[in-house]
Amino acid sequence: MRRKLVAGNWKMHGLRAQLPEVEAIASAAAANPSVDAALCLPFTLIHPAAQVAGSLPIGAQDLHEADKGAHTGCISAPMLVEEGATLTIVGHSERRGDQHETSHDAYMKAAAAHRHGLKVILCCGELEAERAAGRAERIVQSQIEKSLPDDADPSWLTIAYEPRWAIGTGKTPTADEIASMHAIIRAKLRMMIGDDKADGIQILYGGSVTGANAAQILALDNVDGALVGGASLTAEKFVPIIEAAA
Ligand code: PGA
Repeated sequence: MRRKLVAGNWKMHGLRAQLPEVEAIASAAAANPSVDAALCLPFTLIHPAAQVAGSLPIGAQDLHEADKGAHTGCISAPMLVEEGATLTIVGHSERRGDQHETSHDAYMKAAAAHRHGLKVILCCGELEAERAAGRAERIVQSQIEKSLPDDADPSWLTIAYEPRWAIGTGKTPTADEIASMHAIIRAKLRMMIGDDKADGIQILYGGSVTGANAAQILALDNVDGALVGGASLTAEKFVPIIEAAA
């Protein structure tokens, strides 16, 4: 039986003035021990948040694939670990869109994170035009093929299905579309790493999840949690999603 994971992705939001929100989210998470919760924060908030988050895992939203080197402006896995991060997102569609990252980049980044003991939320998801063209399934399967790390295992890897057109738009796929894509991802994982490991891996849905739609989405087959952007920025919005997963 897979536990549910509700992970927040603050993106480029949050100054130290928002640390009380982290604390409030951490207390709510501690009060709902049947759910796994986590917050993926801007690099600058990882250390201060880890100081106040108690047992709530604090993570990053990206990292560089190398441990160190001449990569101006980049952050490596050992740096994240030193700041108190215990997980990271890789392959988010905003990185794919804004920074032209590929599934191979996500593969390399996931491997780097795992080398240093970070858990990984590996994102996949199609663009609106790809869905309109009937290519959503093939695109997501291909992203998984190219980005799934070699030693993928439920102890450290989570997948997040996030259709690009549903992120920050208030639009969500239908329940059938979500369930069908999650089943396709599960089948792909089974083919690649075998049923035992594949069946243990949490597959999150992300894209305009709110307190209002979380319960319905989280009840779907093969939906093992949510990756939440806008609605994770305050305890008032995020805690109901954690509670919906309980
Ligand atoms: P959203 O973002 O919840 O604001 O749509 C989700 C994400 O990008 O992880």
